[in-house]
Amino acid sequence: MKEPIYKRVLLKISGEALSGGTGFGINNDVLHDISLGIKELNDVGVEVAVVVGGGNFWRGRTSQGMDRTTADYIGMLATVMNAMALQDSLEDVGVPTRVQTGIEMRQVAEPYIRRRAVRHLEKGRVVIFGAGTGNPYFSTDTAAALRAAEMEADVILLAKNVDAVYDKDPKVHDDAKKFTNLTYMEVINRELKVMDSTATSLCMDNKITIKVFELSTENIIKVVYGENIGTTVE
Ligand code: UDP
Repeated sequence: MKEPIYKRVLLKISGEALSGGTGFGINNDVLHDISLGIKELNDVGVEVAVVVGGGNFWRGRTSQGMDRTTADYIGMLATVMNAMALQDSLEDVGVPTRVQTGIEMRQVAEPYIRRRAVRHLEKGRVVIFGAGTGNPYFSTDTAAALRAAEMEADVILLAKNVDAVYDKDPKVHDDAKKFTNLTYMEVINRELKVMDSTATSLCMDNKITIKVFELSTENIIKVVYGENIGTTVE
């Protein structure tokens, strides 16, 4: 029987992916589908940490006419809503879960404590990281890179709305070229839309492999069992 090729993974789910194509809010079917995928990994002993985005509610950098730091804190709070919704959905399918937030809000979640998060993973609990890095001017992609480094995860699973990385938008250009493998420097120099440059640099400096693929239960399982889909950045 095939074995998973990773022991500990960090799954990054963008807010947009949670909206199920509408761009806003949370789609319960999508949440349920992701939860089943995570459950499948949890059942075979793969440790799963999750960083959730918040773009389905709010994005700091695109909010006009507001102080940037305030806008970013609103964005971080948006990610906590997604984290709580995912926790609820995971518990619904019987997966033990903890939410830890980069901004303290003890009534709703644990504050982020690295050693505690590692312990949860070792005990087979899924840990969902909310509120990004806890700092304005960063993205949840950077939070994913940071938490992956801190958790010593084997890989970042970057689940997106597209199936891979392209040289230009495949929805607009018929001749868009799909990449199977990329280096971090290629992503940065060609300004490819994988992660922002801060997040990509952090992955490069800490040698964290990024797997980019379209979000679905099937694809999450495929990647963790070593099937080559999407784009690998390393
Ligand atoms: N954010 C932040 N610091 C962080 C992570 C997120 O300020 O460490 C804010 C930022 O305003 C961002 C918003 O939270 O636009 C939502 O996160 P992001 O845009 O990364 O979500 P995604 O695009 O993955 O849904």
